[in-house]
Amino acid sequence: MAEEFPVEIGVVYEGERIRKQDMQVELGGTKVDYKAELVQCRKVDEIEDGKVIIKGRDLQAMEEGGQYPLVILVEVAGEQVEKDLEAVIERRIHDFSNYIEGFMHVNQRYDIWCRLSKKSFQKGFNSFTYLGQALIKLFKAELPIIEKIQITILTEEEDVKPFEEEARKIYEARDARARDLSDDDVDEFYGCVLCQSFAPTHVCAITPDRISLCGAINWFDGRAAARVDPKGPNFKIEKGELIDKEKFEYTGINEMVKEKSLGENQRFWLHTMFGNPHTSCGCFEAIAFFIPEVEGIGICHRNYRGETVIGVPFSTLATQTGGGKQLDGFLGIAIEYMRSPKFFATDGGWNRIVWMPKFIKEQVRDAIPEHLYDKIATEEITTDINELKQFLDQQDHPVKERWIEEAVIEADELEVIPLDQAFAGTRLILKNARIHADKVIIRRK
Ligand code: SF4
Ligand code: ZN
Repeated sequence: MAEEFPVEIGVVYEGERIRKQDMQVELGGTKVDYKAELVQCRKVDEIEDGKVIIKGRDLQAMEEGGQYPLVILVEVAGEQVEKDLEAVIERRIHDFSNYIEGFMHVNQRYDIWCRLSKKSFQKGFNSFTYLGQALIKLFKAELPIIEKIQITILTEEEDVKPFEEEARKIYEARDARARDLSDDDVDEFYGCVLCQSFAPTHVCAITPDRISLCGAINWFDGRAAARVDPKGPNFKIEKGELIDKEKFEYTGINEMVKEKSLGENQRFWLHTMFGNPHTSCGCFEAIAFFIPEVEGIGICHRNYRGETVIGVPFSTLATQTGGGKQLDGFLGIAIEYMRSPKFFATDGGWNRIVWMPKFIKEQVRDAIPEHLYDKIATEEITTDINELKQFLDQQDHPVKERWIEEAVIEADELEVIPLDQAFAGTRLILKNARIHADKVIIRRK
């Protein structure tokens, strides 16, 4: 295969982005309604090792610049290959397909978005057979527990749509499994560094109450992966001591963050978007953003195409949030995290959520406390910040308790310390405040 393979395969291609004008075709992404990738474990005699099945239009039959539905089904078998590993094997489709020169893969599950470059197409990468062959080769080389592997590619909506519907049931069952377990019930958490090739200081801390931000790896998946491949991208984290019950700060997580971010970050507070929040690589299913004007939190998911209530679309939020930095007030999350009993527990949980697109609000309806459902605005209610404030006021949203109409501070002396000297995580916000002081001291650092 090596001689005939039309393009190169290697880690060097991993960070490659393919711009619109350079793409031969786009597969999945926000412009098509149906797409999915799935790994399923099979019995050894159920699949044919090395086989690639293509159903639907192949690459050479696709229009240049066109967008098409896509399914990547990877079926694996082996003595040690068990159901518990499906999600973590599935997550590797992302990095392995990115090893292919001129092939870009973003996101996961029902959100996949791929592009093939014109250059690679012209070099002869004109069939999904090559995608299948490359994946088979990489999976077998990197995960020796896989003894047999078969890949199926679907590209017609009539096949992709029902496949996605079935796959969604499988993703849901995986997510549901972790819902009954809490951070307090376990002695260890798990970590993932798979995204360090894109965001070198990023590491995911995965706990029962905090699924990874890509939504693809929960606590059970992390555990299964760490067991079969302890030196791989998923590893065990000793929980350590809970040193701050409100911020959910664990010594074990802090030690892990320090080590894996190479000292860039020192601590994570698990269930907050302020102070020392979790970092975000770029694979988040949604972004939570603080809206200072109303003291509330907005949420926007990846497939929302309009402007958010702070006047920018998801893409702008994503540029701001990604890259593995710790950012106060911006955080990438999985949709499933919104179902966690500890969802932004430090910040007020659902009492703090003020805006989200209707699509996602309906999707997580079961997780939103009933009395709050109508109080959370969507794009249908408004995308204007002033109107949002009026709406929250009329609805008597609990976030109002955080509004200070007018504050008058009277003091003999007022000392202003630059923010970087103040205690991390502590801030004093004065809105519409009138300050009377006989003396004001501003100290230079
Ligand atoms: Fe791993 Fe986190 Fe990247 Fe998901 S987002 S692949 S859990 S590092
Ligand atoms: Zn990532």
